[in-house]
Amino acid sequence: MTQDTAPGGALDLPGYARVYSGKVRELYAPLDADGTPSHELLLLVASDRISAYDHVLDSVIPDKGRILTQLSLWWFEQFASLVPNHVVSVDVPPQVEGRAILVRRLQMLPVECIGRAYLTGSGLAEYRESGSVCGVNLPEGLTEASPLPEPIFTPTTKAPVGEHDQPMTFAQVEAEVGPELAAAARDMTTRILTRGNEIAAERGILIADTKVEFGVRDSRLVLADEVLTPDSSRFWRAAEHEVGRPQTSYDKQYVRDWLTSPESGWDRHSGDAPPALPQDVVRATRDTYVAAYESITGRAFD
Ligand code: ATP
Ligand code: MG
Repeated sequence: MTQDTAPGGALDLPGYARVYSGKVRELYAPLDADGTPSHELLLLVASDRISAYDHVLDSVIPDKGRILTQLSLWWFEQFASLVPNHVVSVDVPPQVEGRAILVRRLQMLPVECIGRAYLTGSGLAEYRESGSVCGVNLPEGLTEASPLPEPIFTPTTKAPVGEHDQPMTFAQVEAEVGPELAAAARDMTTRILTRGNEIAAERGILIADTKVEFGVRDSRLVLADEVLTPDSSRFWRAAEHEVGRPQTSYDKQYVRDWLTSPESGWDRHSGDAPPALPQDVVRATRDTYVAAYESITGRAFD
């Protein structure tokens, strides 16, 4: 294992300075000739760490960093004519080959842009209480796994590490980033989900919902971070989809379900850190991530 399970784990990258450790990714700035960190570029390195319920777990999922990076690169290419993206080059130091991308360093919107095509999870919970999600009114009679009449934008705050993201209304996003960027983020998020679902449908997959992040360059949105991965999305098998019951998810939901099952012995609301994943759950999670990559891209992993 070349990486720590904890954010900020040691990685010796000569010529780069670490600028940020996220739950899953590390950001490094290439050093300019005079030794100062670049303001233009970043090396975005995906680790094998996995987070759930805002905790970084004590377990790593082998190859996860490479899977997420390769799948995101594939989607960036699919969406190239739809939206500009942050990718500059995949020519990266050998220590992080395959799981790092040299990207344009952007001012990130302080919003998690969530798009939903089907109702489940926190969206369903909010709908059951209020008939709407993040201020978007929905028709009556929807239930678990119902398709929505059209994809909706249900943004949240980007909470600092250790805090929980909170739902935002569209008006709150407008107040935060201005009406033009807010409208662009909403439209682009739902278009990515719509186009993503058209592509995924050819592979027998439904993308129930997803989270994307945008940066801004010359007052225009640029798609950044990761796109339509099993960390950021819910993938369902189209052939098994049935409204009214929970779906089997081919993504991180598998880990969430284990953590909240009696088997884990963990109480999500206790404030305690979740337990490490048993080896069979680690293995099944890796298999799930590989399967998502392979079915979406039609490529073999490795
Ligand atoms: P989560 O993804 O679960 O919300 P996190 O913020 O800890 O948590 P990571 O994926 O571990 O996420 O870290 C990646 C960080 O890099 C995020 O804060 C993201 O906004 C930022 N980022 C991604 N692409 C760029 C970019 N091109 N320029 C600047 N920052 C970026
Ligand atoms: Mg992230």
